[in-house]
Amino acid sequence: MQVVILGSGSPIPAPDRAGPATLLRTSAGDLLFDAGRGVSMRAAAVLSGPTAFAAVFLTHLHSDHVTDLNDVITTRWAMSFTPNPLHVFGPTGTECFVAATESMLETDIGYRLTHHEDLTWRPGTVATDVTDGTVFERSEVRVTVAPTDHAPVHPTVGYRVDDDGGSVVIAGDTVPCAGLDRLCAGADVLVHTVIRRDQIEALAVPRLLDVLDYHSAVADAARTAERAGVAPTASPVRPQAICVRWGARPSSHVSATCTRSETPSGAPGSRPALPGGRSAHISGRLTWARARPGRRR
Ligand SMILES: [Zn+2]
Repeated sequence: MQVVILGSGSPIPAPDRAGPATLLRTSAGDLLFDAGRGVSMRAAAVLSGPTAFAAVFLTHLHSDHVTDLNDVITTRWAMSFTPNPLHVFGPTGTECFVAATESMLETDIGYRLTHHEDLTWRPGTVATDVTDGTVFERSEVRVTVAPTDHAPVHPTVGYRVDDDGGSVVIAGDTVPCAGLDRLCAGADVLVHTVIRRDQIEALAVPRLLDVLDYHSAVADAARTAERAGVAPTASPVRPQAICVRWGARPSSHVSATCTRSETPSGAPGSRPALPGGRSAHISGRLTWARARPGRRR
């Protein structure tokens, strides 16, 4: 299984950062988690894209996480040569959101159906509202969902993907909560939106300060990982991915066994040092490998 952070941006446009989206390459095909700004372009950069997605999973319906879902739906439909409906899973409200998105696209759907004689079907996206439990099983892959806490945004969910003995958790935007702890128990990788409180507080802009209410700080996410055994404090044995979004630049994401107040940062490709002789790897891609007993990573 491979984890590719396609985007780790925030609602604030950035020239070098796409919106939130994570691609998991599994034995059942490519699974997309969230569809933020630029997702199709970033997926193309790793030779994936809307026609290749086995399914799309949304953590919540905040605009920055779904703004390019319409592009995914249109591109998959227009670039498929047989009916190929996209399956979209998300919290309650997703079925309505997807129906509204296809309604928004109605003019374009009409143009293409009229123009292309061989295109005789509509996008036909299949949306499913999910709340808790297993929501997707194919090949060796199982996707489990649990509620998260991004109040006042409600409902929100996180996902856990198990494949070939390994597991990856996609937390999305959330503060620490029991649902996320449940998903994380014994997981190999945690992809978690975090916020740099220090940088946001330094800006002291009321509307930005508001976002501190419903995101985890880096230390919060590290504690979630510690509780779950993803990254034990003094003896890291498993990789952990922390997606640094709000306020942190220029890194796109950090792969490290971070603990407590550690907040590694740096340019993509760099390996900043952490206490205890450890290091963080900052890049756009993580490759998961099966943990071996006694092997320290
Ligand atoms: Zn959000």
